Amino acid sequence: MQRITIHPSQLQEQQLLLTPQQQHYLLRVLRLRDGDKFIAMDGMGKWWLTQLIGETGEIIELLQVKTELPVSITLMMALPKGNGFDDVVRCCTELGVTCILPVLSDRTLINPSSQKLERWRRIASEAAEQSERAFVPTILEPVAFSTALSECKVNHRYICEARGDYPHLKKVLNNCSDEIIIAIGPEGGWTDQELEIAIKSGFQPVSLGRRILRAVTAPIVALSLIAATCEV
Ligand code: SAM
Repeated sequence: MQRITIHPSQLQEQQLLLTPQQQHYLLRVLRLRDGDKFIAMDGMGKWWLTQLIGETGEIIELLQVKTELPVSITLMMALPKGNGFDDVVRCCTELGVTCILPVLSDRTLINPSSQKLERWRRIASEAAEQSERAFVPTILEPVAFSTALSECKVNHRYICEARGDYPHLKKVLNNCSDEIIIAIGPEGGWTDQELEIAIKSGFQPVSLGRRILRAVTAPIVALSLIAATCEV
């Protein structure tokens, strides 16, 4: 069944007020007709089975969704060059990420425009719909890596480092907690100084295996490992 993401303010008792864009999508693109059903999701865990009546939706019932991971995962990722971050947002949303925090590290090569943030949020919303997530991940504004470290309050913090003799992420995840933050570096990797301040800020350096993964592949591997360990 088709799904659309709505803002909670669009709900008025049992009625869903559709925006012109949503009307266009449902009526013109999907060619739904009066009485056809679709799912409205608020991106914060609630889904409603809804029936199209004219240019509005009539709520039929609240649905139970069980597609979320039992752990909250924040991906802190140094922005890769080009449009690589689009794929990271899409794939990590499918894999169950809760929050994505883009960071500007010493070796980050781009400074993203504000349109980029809107674009990533749109991609996250589409990927959440596609993968039947109950939540649309939060995509935060990019900040300096040092700021991100100082604001990080999560108990279980990991920083992925491609070189060095660090334990595999799979090994340190034995006790799955309820909140995890995982940091991935840019194409050029973290500088020694960044790794040092991350460790001082309570991040445990971890390996994702013996091969050097591309910056956009590494978060997908990390998320898959966490999901495989924590999902029962
Ligand atoms: N240029 C770096 C080098 O030669 O050491 C490699 C950087 S890698 C392309 C980009 C990021 O992906 C790294 O900073 C790290 O966070 C992550 N990464 C890639 N492969 C990894 C691995 N095997 N273990 C842990 N992290 C890895």
